[in-house]
Amino acid sequence: MKTHTRVAVIGGGVVGCSVLYHLTKAGWTDVVLIERDQLTSGSTWHAAGGFHTLNGDPNVAKLQGYTIGLYDELERITGQSCGLHRSGGLLLADTPERMQWLKMAHARARYLGLETSLLTPSEAKQLLPLIEDKYFVGAMLDAADGNLDPYGTTHAYAKAAKMAGAEIYLKTPVTALSRRPNGSWDVLTTEGTINAEHVVNAGGLWAREVGRMVGIELPVLAMEHMYLVTDDMPEVMEFNRERGHELPHAIDFEAEIYMRQERNGIVLGTYERACKPWSPKTTPWDFGAELLEPDLDRIAPSLEIGYQHFPAMARAGIRRVVNGPFTFSPDGNPLVGPVQGLPGFWCACAVMAGFSQGGGVGLALSQWMVTGDPGFDVWAMDVARYGAWATRSYTNEKVRENYSRRFSIRFPNEELPAARPQQTTALYDILLAAGAVMGDSWGLETPLWFAPPGVEPKDVVSFQRSNDFPHVKAECLGVRSAVGVTEIANFAKYEISGPGAEAFLSRLMTNRMPKIGRLVLTPMLNPAGKLIGDFTIARSAPERFLMWGSSQAQIYHMRWFETQQPTDGSVRLHRFDMGLVGLSIAGPRSRELLARLTDEDVSAAAFRFMDHRAMDVANCPALVNRVTYTGDLGYEIWVAPEYQRRLYEQIRTAGKDLGLIHFGMRALLSLRLEKNFPTWYRELRPIYGPFEAGLDRFVDLSKSDFIGRDAALAEKASGGTLRRVSFAVDALDADVLGDEPIWFDGKVVGWVTSGGYGHCVGRSLAQGYVPAGLAGNLGEGVFEIEIIGDRRKASILSEPLFDPAGARMRM
Ligand SMILES: Cc1cc2nc3c(=O)[nH]c(=O)nc-3n(C[C@H](O)[C@H](O)[C@H](O)COP(=O)(O)OP(=O)(O)OC[C@H]3O[C@@H](n4cnc5c(N)ncnc54)[C@H](O)[C@@H]3O)c2cc1C
Repeated sequence: MKTHTRVAVIGGGVVGCSVLYHLTKAGWTDVVLIERDQLTSGSTWHAAGGFHTLNGDPNVAKLQGYTIGLYDELERITGQSCGLHRSGGLLLADTPERMQWLKMAHARARYLGLETSLLTPSEAKQLLPLIEDKYFVGAMLDAADGNLDPYGTTHAYAKAAKMAGAEIYLKTPVTALSRRPNGSWDVLTTEGTINAEHVVNAGGLWAREVGRMVGIELPVLAMEHMYLVTDDMPEVMEFNRERGHELPHAIDFEAEIYMRQERNGIVLGTYERACKPWSPKTTPWDFGAELLEPDLDRIAPSLEIGYQHFPAMARAGIRRVVNGPFTFSPDGNPLVGPVQGLPGFWCACAVMAGFSQGGGVGLALSQWMVTGDPGFDVWAMDVARYGAWATRSYTNEKVRENYSRRFSIRFPNEELPAARPQQTTALYDILLAAGAVMGDSWGLETPLWFAPPGVEPKDVVSFQRSNDFPHVKAECLGVRSAVGVTEIANFAKYEISGPGAEAFLSRLMTNRMPKIGRLVLTPMLNPAGKLIGDFTIARSAPERFLMWGSSQAQIYHMRWFETQQPTDGSVRLHRFDMGLVGLSIAGPRSRELLARLTDEDVSAAAFRFMDHRAMDVANCPALVNRVTYTGDLGYEIWVAPEYQRRLYEQIRTAGKDLGLIHFGMRALLSLRLEKNFPTWYRELRPIYGPFEAGLDRFVDLSKSDFIGRDAALAEKASGGTLRRVSFAVDALDADVLGDEPIWFDGKVVGWVTSGGYGHCVGRSLAQGYVPAGLAGNLGEGVFEIEIIGDRRKASILSEPLFDPAGARMRM
């Protein structure tokens, strides 16, 4: 074994081998893989080997597409067969809602460049005669589906990596990891110690244990998973004989089963409701080649429905049952990337679909290590999306929920119940009593909308406009006509202080830093000039800045700030988390309301738009920003959590005769759409540049230096390739949700990032990206947006429908 390497990948499953291969492909060849036993000896060896492109997140779907396309390359390079069967797959819809869901998936596949088609039940039966078509209302065919040999594929990755210079050490368990003062890692194994500049945790079933070696508890849990292999089936053999090819794969959502051909029989796997975690606290080190005891009773409800839908399978004998564990994160997507606070320690774990996702994970991680950026939008699988709230028991509840719902529809307005409430503010009970319907905002309960007296505070899940529609409308109108109050604890809040604070922020952000008592809005770019953040920054003292951003990206942002922080102690970074909570009051009467709660002069002249002040509000020491995301006159009032109840009660009392109403996140998002305001995670993501996103006025190119400036200059000069635009949509009873294709002249030219109904302007609205050259087409209805299979006319809005001059914010 070497004594030093650039990268030590821990784990020789399909994911570790893919990471190793991709590192060599990216030009790093002094890399090693360390495996406890043999390659594939974790969950990889007993996988069913299926692959598909379908994923709830389009960016992950793209990486799945990359993975599936990679296997031919691997076979070509190595001569090692991956045992590929590119048979295509059917997704079978049993209800109209499921068909709507498939129509949306099909629409999204169009802009992802994936090959799918919608079928009637009889067309589906033509392709897969095993189905009893009376149980289905339709289907989608995904041409990219197939299956492979897990052992051959893993060895193909490993061989390709070795051919490029990587080394693989088998029978070498890693027992400990320790950090040297120079930042490198000593990887202690039973066969000696190797010093590595970077360590990758690809420990699969043991990823938690490898995490614990560096003091972290990763949100990952293994679940038992069963599939049956039937005896030879005459129906399968006859099909093969007649058609000259294999049966396509199928997913039957109602039965919660997937199936595919295996030799002359069928493999049938289930994602059963009565699912079972495996080894919830620790994975035994001696687990390996054995399988778990099958438990057919647990999957009997799925089999019962499946056997009705596929009668031939009910007649077939069962040759073997496989029950093996594999890992999941709380939302089912992988945990990938560098771990905040542990430079040089990377994750490539919780990959539940190693043969659909392993290649994409390897590609993204290797680019991230070699160039400092994954090269894609990998937010949906970034390890930084979880915080301290994702504890082991939280993970257990969420993983079980996710597993048991793997084949269930998630409606756009559906909040999942497991492990809730996890984090609450001091207002939780009060807001519930006021009729709040709560949503889970990255672990924090956040009011979505308020049910008036007599109305049940509950969402009716739907793809169409739902029961919240009139109530959200009332909230929007209440804000625009008088004043509303909403909780805004779910922001990220930071303090950046010290003699180097201004220079540090100025280098990170595209905008100039504010004067004392003022606010600025500013994007943050990566070196390639893409958007990696969007913040509001206040200066409260010469060397003290307060900053607000997106709560879900707190760890992601801290990780970036820490890599840029000077080592001389001149800049201190502090994340408030729930140590600073807030209420926003917005609407034309919000100034009157604030004035009743403070003896400071808050007149328009004394407390201007984009001002920031420390002042007593309702006796509470508060920080007040004169800004609101509603695009109206408004204020954000930030206090320590122990003051939040008092502040809220006083606002309620003082606002009574001003027409004060509650409003929730859904009203806030509707109000911001009327102003064409973008939002982080939807419109603002690391695949867009600042000019493409229309953030021109927040990018100060006259500043001599900031990260991404050269790329931003080039983008400005070229005009960029895309342009964020806002649309009014001729919708019927369903609004845009996000990820729908945008059509122009009979072709899909772009995609929607978010949308909804603008209640105060009375229009259905959407935002999205189109090629820059098309953004000037302002004609009425010249674009179309596909909403649940219907192409609806859409017109670009050249200015916001509400208050285009921005007078209300400045009044
Ligand atoms: C029954 C079943 C069916 C499945 N079907 C499919 C399917 O059809 N399609 C699909 O895509 N996926 C399927 N999967 C999931 C698939 O198996 C996983 O996504 C994949 O195996 C994950 O690979 P991995 O490399 O992350 O983890 P693992 O395969 O668990 O590999 C981790 C490796 O790390 C090694 N290791 C851990 N700790 C150490 C240490 N300290 N020192 C040295 N080595 C260490 C282990 O020995 C192991 O070899 C299935 C899984 C099961 C159980």
